[in-house]
Amino acid sequence: MPMRRLAFLLVLLALPLAAQNPAPATQRPDLVVVISIDQFRYEYVTRFAPYLSEGGLNRALKNGANFRRALYSYATTYTGPGHAAIGSGYTPSRSGIVGNNWFDRNNAEAEYCVGDARSKGGFSPMNLASDTLGDRVGERFAGSKVIGVALKDRAAILMAGRKATAAYWFEADVPGFTSSSYYRFNKPLLDEFNKTVPALVKAHPEWVQSDFIPAADLAKLTHDPESLRKYKTAREGLGVAFPHPIKSIEALTATPFGNDYVLGFAEKILDAEKLGTEDGTPDILYVGLSSPDYAGHSYGPDSLEAADMVMRTDRQLEQFFKMLDAKFGNRYTVAITADHGVQSIPEVAKDMGRDAGRVLMRNPGAQVRKMGELAAGRKLVEKSMAAKLGVKVTDETETTDDFILYFDEPSLYINWARVRALKLDPERVKKALRDSVKEVKGVRAAWTNTELQSLDRRADGLSGLMAHAFRADRSGDVLVTLKQGWIWGYSDTGTTHGQAVDDDQHVPLLFFGRGITAGTYDDEVAPTYLAKTIGSLFGVDAGGIDTEVLPCVR
Ligand SMILES: [Zn+2]
Repeated sequence: MPMRRLAFLLVLLALPLAAQNPAPATQRPDLVVVISIDQFRYEYVTRFAPYLSEGGLNRALKNGANFRRALYSYATTYTGPGHAAIGSGYTPSRSGIVGNNWFDRNNAEAEYCVGDARSKGGFSPMNLASDTLGDRVGERFAGSKVIGVALKDRAAILMAGRKATAAYWFEADVPGFTSSSYYRFNKPLLDEFNKTVPALVKAHPEWVQSDFIPAADLAKLTHDPESLRKYKTAREGLGVAFPHPIKSIEALTATPFGNDYVLGFAEKILDAEKLGTEDGTPDILYVGLSSPDYAGHSYGPDSLEAADMVMRTDRQLEQFFKMLDAKFGNRYTVAITADHGVQSIPEVAKDMGRDAGRVLMRNPGAQVRKMGELAAGRKLVEKSMAAKLGVKVTDETETTDDFILYFDEPSLYINWARVRALKLDPERVKKALRDSVKEVKGVRAAWTNTELQSLDRRADGLSGLMAHAFRADRSGDVLVTLKQGWIWGYSDTGTTHGQAVDDDQHVPLLFFGRGITAGTYDDEVAPTYLAKTIGSLFGVDAGGIDTEVLPCVR
C-alpha cells in the first residue's frame, strides 16, 4: 500500500478519537477569530517579510504556526468557493459553491452563489450544500454564537454557514453594513454603526503611499513603471497612481481603509454580542477583509498599491490583535488565511518576459446579434465546433444559433435546444466543444462533464484539482482551465484569479493563540484543513474526509 494511502487511512482511524477527546478545557479558547484576507497570496508574506510589523502577521509567522505550503486543492480559485472552503472544510464538489456564479439550467438564468430571492435582503447560505465548522460548534454548545462580517456578502455568508447567528456585509445603497431576513441580525447595532460612514470617508480624503518600505527597496520589490499604468483599472474615481483621491464610501472600500471599516465593525460585534465570554460556550467570529481584492484586481500584485496594501493590512491586524489581547487576554485563538491569490496583470507579466494574456470568452450583450460580433475566443470556438459537426455558419449567423448558451468561469453551457433541432449526438457535441476550446491560445486543458464525472478526486495533478471543482448539477457541459499567466478577459485592464496555478492556489495558513503549538510546517496542506483543525479544539468533527487536523493542535 502506498504511504500516502496509508497515512490517509490512519487519519481516518484517528478521527473518531479526536472527536471524543477535545483539547483539555484549559487549552480551549472562548473565542476563535478566523480572518480571510481576500486575494492574498503566500508570496506576499515572503516578499515583504522584512517590513512587516512585530505584532501583525508576524504574530503568527514568528510566534505561531505557519503552514508554508497551503494550497487550495481545487482548480476554481474564486471568492465564493474559497470562503465556503474556509468555513466548511469542503471543496466545491461537496460545498456546492462551484463558482461565484453558475448557470441554473432549470430557470435558464445565472445563479449567484449566495443569491436567495426568498429572503428579504436577497442573500443567504441556501446554495451552500455542506455543513460548516460553525454549524458543528453550534450543535455541540448551546449558546455558541457564530457570526460573519465582510465587505462582500459571499465572504461573510459562506464562512459563517447555514446555522450562523448572523452575517453582515457592505451595501453601497445603505450605505453601510446590512444583513438579510435569513438571520436574526442585530438591527440596532447596524443602524448605530452605519451612522459613522460619512465621518470615515471624511477622515480619509486620499490614499497615499506609506513609508514602511524604503523607496529604494520598494522599486526592487515591485514592477510598476509609468508606461504600464494604462493597464491598471481606474475604479470609483481612484485613478491609477498615488495619490488616490477617495470621494465616496465605495472608493474607500477599494483602499486599505476599507479594512479599518470591517475591523471596526468586528470590534463592535464582539462587544454587542458578548462574544468570547467565559461561559463555556465558544464563539466564532469570521472576518473577511475584502479591500485587498478590490485593489488587487485594479492594480495587480506587482504594483506599488499592492505593496502598500500588504503593509497597511499588516498594521491594521496588529492593532486588531492588540484589541483582542486587551479584551480576551490568552483566551482566544486566531486563524489567518486567504480565499485565493492572484496573477499578474498580463501586460505587466509580458513586460517581465513571461507568457501571459487574456482569453476572451465573455457572454455577448443583448445588442450582439451576429456571430461575427462575438468576443474573439468565443467566435473561434463557435466556428471550429460547427466545422467539426458539419454545420455551416458564417459571421452573419444569428447568435441564437450559437452552440454555447452561456459562459461562467470555468464552465461552458451548451445550447441544447439547438443541438436537438440539429439532431446531433450529445456526447459528440460536448467533445467537439472540448476540442475546439483547446484550440484557443492560453487554454491549458478542457474536459466534458461526462469525463469529469469519472475523475477521481484523489488523483494527483490537474485531474484531481478539477474533480474537486466539479459538481454535476451546477457545473457546465465543458470545463476549462488556463495556462500559467493567462486570465479570462472582460476588459483591457486589471487582473484576476481563478486558475489552478501557484499564484492563485498558494495562500497563508497561520494560527496563533490558545491551543496552538508554534512551529513552521512544510507539508503540503490546504485551507480546507482549517475547519477540522479548529473543530478538534472543541471535540467536533468538521470538514471533508480529505482534510486533516493540522499538527499545530495535536
Ligand atoms: Zn476573493
